[in-house]
Amino acid sequence: MSEGANVTEQRHLTPVLTKRWLSPNSWTLATYEQLEGYTALRKALAAHPDQLIQLIKDSGLRGRGGAGFPAGMKWGFIPQNDSKPHYLVINADEGEPGTCKDVPLMMADPHSLIEGIVITAYAIRANYAAIYVRGEVIHCIRRLHAAVREAYRAGYLGRNILGSGFDLEVVVHAGAGAYICGEETALLDSLEGRRGQPRLKPPFPATAGLYAAPTVVNNVETIATVPYIVNGGSDWFRSMGTEKSPGPKIYSLSGHVEKPGQYEAPLGITLRELLDMAGGMKDGIPLKFWTPGGSSTPLFTADHLDVPLDFEGAAAEGSMLGTTALMIFNETVSVPWAVMKWTEFYKHESCGKCTPCREGTYWLEQILHRMLRGEGTPEDVETMLDVCDNILGRSFCALGDGATSPITSAIKYFRHEFLELCEKNSGGVPAPALAGAQG
Ligand code: NAD
Ligand code: SF4
Repeated sequence: MSEGANVTEQRHLTPVLTKRWLSPNSWTLATYEQLEGYTALRKALAAHPDQLIQLIKDSGLRGRGGAGFPAGMKWGFIPQNDSKPHYLVINADEGEPGTCKDVPLMMADPHSLIEGIVITAYAIRANYAAIYVRGEVIHCIRRLHAAVREAYRAGYLGRNILGSGFDLEVVVHAGAGAYICGEETALLDSLEGRRGQPRLKPPFPATAGLYAAPTVVNNVETIATVPYIVNGGSDWFRSMGTEKSPGPKIYSLSGHVEKPGQYEAPLGITLRELLDMAGGMKDGIPLKFWTPGGSSTPLFTADHLDVPLDFEGAAAEGSMLGTTALMIFNETVSVPWAVMKWTEFYKHESCGKCTPCREGTYWLEQILHRMLRGEGTPEDVETMLDVCDNILGRSFCALGDGATSPITSAIKYFRHEFLELCEKNSGGVPAPALAGAQG
């Protein structure tokens, strides 16, 4: 049985993470408590922290921020016999183009995140946690503040939580809208009050993170999943998804689909199945290309409709699962134009710390602008590949590598579109599209 068929049969098990989203006032403590909220916390506080770490290891939960690192293993790296404080930091700086899962989760169900935070902090013996949110999503920041206040008042946060003797302080910290601050070490620098730039790894945050103390940095969706595992158990969790990528996942679909939005499904679902859920391609115009996990993941085409969207499936086809942000483009879209827009983004967001990314993204943007004006040469395609080769694996952090993904994959599948633009008198990309792009 193919992974895709397997997932179709499991779909009745979801929704899990999104099950409360459509309930009236789903974001309030009252609704959350009515719908089994904070029951997992009571269970967790009655267990030994090591049992919780083992449970998450057994569940196979992998980080939902993009990299898919095993969450239980990360928690297990926190040294237990040290004198330093431990910290839990929630990466809520969702910034990958096309990604829209953590903000909706925090808007609709902030207490699932808070409950996950308390359980995780208890497991890793942390008494301080921070939620680092993008500064632009002010509505979400307000909602988190309100939910944290409610949780404090109800005794789910603060001193002696539910009489367990465990203390936890949680702060909501607003970033300033820099994409690089989603990189965990840049985020930690920013949280400490410095300019957000990546640190050298190793040491990883698990050993030297916030204020050089052991720190678990996990994504919002990862931590919001924890209460369900505590209540449902690891076997239940593993009954969804694939063997190596278990559990449910929130996929965000945008672009040329009839019903864009968030769709929860077991890991391993395919775009073909997700398109069924989203009402198909908009106006029936055929699919041309798409991203499986944001613009930092290599593009897919209509030939990849049946690729299982789990960590292994996407990688086996030369891409990555990333943030499960599926940006979907129909046949009307110029591939070089889309690539140019993404490259403008990376050039703008490059933090400038290392030369390959700082200079490379600048030159890639220059070349693409030239091509789109109809002034490129066929050699420009090779030059772009050469620049990408000098960025990939030679940059300080994943932003540089990510910037090359749309370009190299677009040239792999749609080289002819770049070359057509470089033909004499091609005229470049039609003026309205280019004007819109720069507006
Ligand atoms: P990574 O593979 O370097 O690390 C993943 C996590 O595992 C980190 O928390 C890291 O500290 C930990 N880790 C890895 N090896 C470890 C070790 N030996 N010991 C202890 N901890 C270890 O990936 P990354 O650079 O953190 O993230 C890259 C991913 O981020 C990309 O795949 C991309 O999809 C994603 N991304 C997400 C967004 C977003 O908005 N959510 C934005 C940009 C990029
Ligand atoms: Fe900064 Fe880019 Fe280097 Fe990352 S790869 S450190 S974003 S310049």
